Amino acid sequence: MKIYNSLTRTKEEFVPNHPDIVKMYTCGPTVYHFAHIGNLRSYIMEDILEKYLRYAGYNVKRVMNITDVGHLTSDADEGEDKMLKGARREHKTVMEIAKFYTDAFFADCEKLNIKRPDVVEPATHCIDDYIRIITKLLDTGYAYQAGGNVYFDTSKLEKYFVFNDFSEEDLAVGVREGVEEDENKRNKNDFVLWFTKSKFEDQALKWDSPWGVGYPGWHIECSAISMRHLGGDLDIHCGGIDNAFPHHTNEIAQSEAYLGHKWCNYWMHVRHLNTAGGKMSKSKGEFLTVSLLEEKGYDPLAYRLFCLQSHYRRNLVFSWENLDNAQGAYNKLIAKIAALDPNQGEIDESVLSALDEKFRAALDNDLNTSLAVTAVYDALKADTSDRTKLAAVARFDTVLGLDLIARADKRREELKKQAAEVKTQAVAFEGCEPDPEIEKLVEERAAAKKAKNFAEADRIRGELTARGYAVIDTANGPVVKRA
Ligand code: AMP
Ligand code: ZN
Repeated sequence: MKIYNSLTRTKEEFVPNHPDIVKMYTCGPTVYHFAHIGNLRSYIMEDILEKYLRYAGYNVKRVMNITDVGHLTSDADEGEDKMLKGARREHKTVMEIAKFYTDAFFADCEKLNIKRPDVVEPATHCIDDYIRIITKLLDTGYAYQAGGNVYFDTSKLEKYFVFNDFSEEDLAVGVREGVEEDENKRNKNDFVLWFTKSKFEDQALKWDSPWGVGYPGWHIECSAISMRHLGGDLDIHCGGIDNAFPHHTNEIAQSEAYLGHKWCNYWMHVRHLNTAGGKMSKSKGEFLTVSLLEEKGYDPLAYRLFCLQSHYRRNLVFSWENLDNAQGAYNKLIAKIAALDPNQGEIDESVLSALDEKFRAALDNDLNTSLAVTAVYDALKADTSDRTKLAAVARFDTVLGLDLIARADKRREELKKQAAEVKTQAVAFEGCEPDPEIEKLVEERAAAKKAKNFAEADRIRGELTARGYAVIDTANGPVVKRA
């Protein structure tokens, strides 16, 4: 399998450190508000990666943090803690907010068929780990105390900017006006490991530490949580592209300074989902959540399909029109699979493995999910038994997570039930011999029409035409003639 490694800026063959396990770490949500569907794009793609690694035969251990402390309103150690801001907004305690939005996050994940990582660790559970790491960084000269806080000294590293070619000057140009520089920092990119002094003295969660009562910086949690559950090395680390700098850059700085060796081999970054107006936001414009999609009548899995139809390394523009198209494609796909007969023919292993090869080739190429979806259509079009087609779809869906088989089974059941209901209106054959198979199709078409599934009704009419039959709807029920 080849994956694009942000660290080397090339597509590389994936080779895990250990033969028996792939160690995977993904940055989790900051639980101060609902996730927007942009955040969830990142989690969908990480879910696909995890599931495909398993499909390809790897044993995976995946760890994710829950940020319930220390993430300030600006990623550059500025502003107040997002959790505190959320608590104030809702007149609740920080822990109530954390619990509520953690549950809401996993409820969204469930609707989108995003598997829960093997380990989910809240940042507030690992204070001792941060203290241990920071103590060593201070002892070895990688960190310093100033103005009550502990900072990481980026000047101690040979190479700090690992993901991009930003220079100090480039970043200085990018500094927005109005953001106050922290005067305690020795170097512009130094970052806080432990806060005891902040402008926002109402910080709710604080712990004792060798440097005074305070709370950890945002970056240290991911290094510590990863090491706690995965040890001192990591195969793949993922996150949204905005995490590359400063968050992941700082994770690497502190982890490698602490460990004394390279930490993680592959870094994968998911590009953003944007709206036509630009960046997706939780505070401005329409707050796009999974619940909002549902309220508007969309299936969350249609959104998953929408994400899979594009490559994770390209920005994706969300619009309701684009989602309509994805929903239409999803419905049609389910209808096509529902039209297959689970008992027709035998499974043809050679066809199945040829289809599987195509599917793997797509995902082996840096997770080309849109080609992997095409492999499903290829299976449906293949010149083979319905059983083989269904076996291929079922296999691929263990990675794609679109619930294709379950939804199609349900659809088939509904059609059967509806067909039984409309059976009272007998199908008449005029000028030709009655044919039970044709009669069944005509009944299914009547059922689809009754259910207002006109795409399905049209599809069946097409099939009847292809078989040389015409169907005319009369007040006494459908009449079938030779076309
Ligand atoms: P947060 O809850 O803000 O820590 O973000 C959770 C995850 O969503 C991180 O991996 C972010 O990089 C990612 N993310 C944030 N905004 C977007 C977006 N518009 N599209 C895709 N991923 C995003
Ligand atoms: Zn992280």
